[in-house]
Amino acid sequence: MQYYDASTIIYYDGKFVHATEAKTDLYSQSLHYGIAVFEGIRAYNTVSGQAKIFKAAAHFNRLQRSSELVHIPYEYSNEQLIEVSYELLDRNGLQDAYIRPLIFCGPNMGLGKTSEAHIMICVWQWPALLGEKLIRVVTSPYERPNPKGFLMEAKVSGHYVNSILAGQDARDRGYDEALLLDLNGNVAEGPGANVFFEKDGKLFTPPLGNILPGITRATVLHICKERNIEVEERFFKPEEMKGADAAFFCGTAAEVVGWESYDDIPFAKSWKTTSSKIIQEAYKSLVIEKQKDYSTVLA
Ligand code: PMP
Repeated sequence: MQYYDASTIIYYDGKFVHATEAKTDLYSQSLHYGIAVFEGIRAYNTVSGQAKIFKAAAHFNRLQRSSELVHIPYEYSNEQLIEVSYELLDRNGLQDAYIRPLIFCGPNMGLGKTSEAHIMICVWQWPALLGEKLIRVVTSPYERPNPKGFLMEAKVSGHYVNSILAGQDARDRGYDEALLLDLNGNVAEGPGANVFFEKDGKLFTPPLGNILPGITRATVLHICKERNIEVEERFFKPEEMKGADAAFFCGTAAEVVGWESYDDIPFAKSWKTTSSKIIQEAYKSLVIEKQKDYSTVLA
């Protein structure tokens, strides 16, 4: 995957610069210890023919909260960062795109707080997938980090070592994606997506606490409310999902992606006949709707 070339423009500490010319400090605390925060945001070419950043405010609010939780100074206006993101799309000629803001620390080889922070935002082309492909999911031998040791509601770079290990392991074993359990053996989430399953027309998803509070998860809950689809947020073991009617991952990158099987066990219903499929369709139309910022609701 090529993320940039000689003409790509990024935003770096208040300036628009060429990606190939931007420099960073090899003594950054972020590079050595994984303390940085980021967001994964999508822009879609909408029905009006203009790019819309989906849930821009919710993403930048979470970026700010992540930064504050791990004590990285956050001295930016989110409104301005949203404008910068639109300008980046424009300058790079992109509409269907992925937007990646990253806040990282200045030089510090110690384990104390770093007073110097930097911001970079880059964008790259990412066609709307919104696909029909169903995926094969396997329980990961890697658990999600203990929430007493990490701030699981923050989107911290270092947390993604756990995600990478789990995802690689699942793919090495011939599956599409991993499902990680929490410290108590309950279903938690995927390496980069939240999880729902469906039984008798009702949906179930783990409560907040041991998972990243996904913006797509909040959107799915909102869609369910609008359409009178019942959802219960509670802990459950993987066994409860096996042989259920359907299951899906949801996340900014993943969108809403249905499962073909879980630990090699197929689901009871054909995806096309489920409420989960209705939610997938609703999400598809929502992201390409015309208005700029549909909602800033965070669950
Ligand atoms: N869980 C994890 C671990 C993630 O990395 C992501 C992606 N940010 C999600 C859930 C889904 O979050 P969102 O819907 O906000 O993209």
